[in-house]
Amino acid sequence: MSNKSKKIVLATRNKGKIAEFERLLTDYASDIQVLGLADFPEMPDVKETGSTLTENALLKSRQIAQFSGLPALADDSGLFVTALNGDPGVYSARWAGKHGDDRANTEKVLAQLRELELTGEIDRSASFKCVIALSFPTGHPEGGRDVIEEGEMKGSLIGEPRGEGGFGYDPIFIPEGLTLTSAEISAELKDQLSHRGRAMRQIAPLLIALL
Ligand code: IMP
Repeated sequence: MSNKSKKIVLATRNKGKIAEFERLLTDYASDIQVLGLADFPEMPDVKETGSTLTENALLKSRQIAQFSGLPALADDSGLFVTALNGDPGVYSARWAGKHGDDRANTEKVLAQLRELELTGEIDRSASFKCVIALSFPTGHPEGGRDVIEEGEMKGSLIGEPRGEGGFGYDPIFIPEGLTLTSAEISAELKDQLSHRGRAMRQIAPLLIALL
């Protein structure tokens, strides 16, 4: 049994993400236990039907807070490419059709950029954005309240994937101010720069104050 008195559910099955967030929270408080979806096997899957990152993050955080009876934190993120009018954006995880097919998604973005390049020089700027939502269940003193924080990592896209680290579109994304892709930098540096790291660091102290 954990002797940690306060609990929060993170909308993920990824143990690495849970550990990472727990580490971040211990900078602010040590009495918080971070649970994941694996701790609630009966929890139904939440459909990400929103048309914005904020809508999807809120869909997840609200449903998970109500189901678990605990404060819940959910994130949604994506890559916004200027030359593609902000695509793939909220559809980043399933841009090529199948959810989570990183290689196919990346190839599709590169093919779209190559197509545009046939008619002239293109703007290669892009940015990763992340929205994190925190919701409280009915019965909690903060019941019905939502807190939203956003993070952004600006950069540009290259024409061929480079690097073995990270995930998703990292091999084609160079963060602003760097010459390496986000698949070529250390996990620690990516955490410092990333849209998710920034949003997480903003929400952590608010969460501690409200739990
Ligand atoms: P989510 O898991 O629904 O937030 O989907 C996010 C999708 O956006 C992922 O599947 C990736 O394709 C992309 N993405 C989000 N954050 C990153 C990142 O840090 N690096 C690379 N791709 C990312």
